[in-house]
Amino acid sequence: MYIGHVGAALAAKRVRPGIGLLPLLIATYTPDWVDTGMCLAGAYDPVGMLSHSVPAVLSLALLGLGCYALVTHDWTGALIIAAVIVSHMFLDWITGYKPTWRGGPMIGLKLYDHPIADFAAEGLVIVVGTLLYARTLPTRQRPWLDVSIMLGALIALQLTIDVAHLLMKTLPKC
Ligand SMILES: [Zn+2]
Repeated sequence: MYIGHVGAALAAKRVRPGIGLLPLLIATYTPDWVDTGMCLAGAYDPVGMLSHSVPAVLSLALLGLGCYALVTHDWTGALIIAAVIVSHMFLDWITGYKPTWRGGPMIGLKLYDHPIADFAAEGLVIVVGTLLYARTLPTRQRPWLDVSIMLGALIALQLTIDVAHLLMKTLPKC
C-alpha cells in the first residue's frame, strides 16, 4: 500500500489525539523505511523478509513501542504506535504480496496488478482515516476546508501512483 498508510496514521490520531502526527507517520511507514535504508545500504531485498515478514514487523512494532514509551512515558500512546506499525503489514497484504516468515508462504491480494482496485482500496482507507482525523480538530475555524485540501492532495498522490502502475506495470522500489 502507498498513500493508504497515511489513512491508518490519521485514524490513530482519532484514537489518541495526544500523539503527534509525525511519530504516527513515521510508524505507519516503518517497514518501508527499513526497505529504504536497505536500498541506500545496497542490501535491498525485493521480497522484504527483513522489513515486511510477520516476525520483522512484530520486532519493529516492539522497537517502536519501546522508543515511543522511552521518549514520552505514554504507554497507551506507545501501544497505538505499535498497532500502527502492525497495520502496515495488514494493509500491504491487501495491495501487495509479502513474505510471512522464512520458509513460509507469500501472501497478499496483489491489487497493484489491478491499479483501479488498488485506487479504490487505498482511497477508502484515506477517506475513512481523514474523516476520523477531522473529528480531532477544533470545530471553529472551519477546519473542513483544510481537511478537504488534505484529502484532495492525498487522493491525488494515490491517483498519480496508480496511473503510473497502469502505464508501467512495475514501479522501481529501490
Ligand atoms: Zn510496505
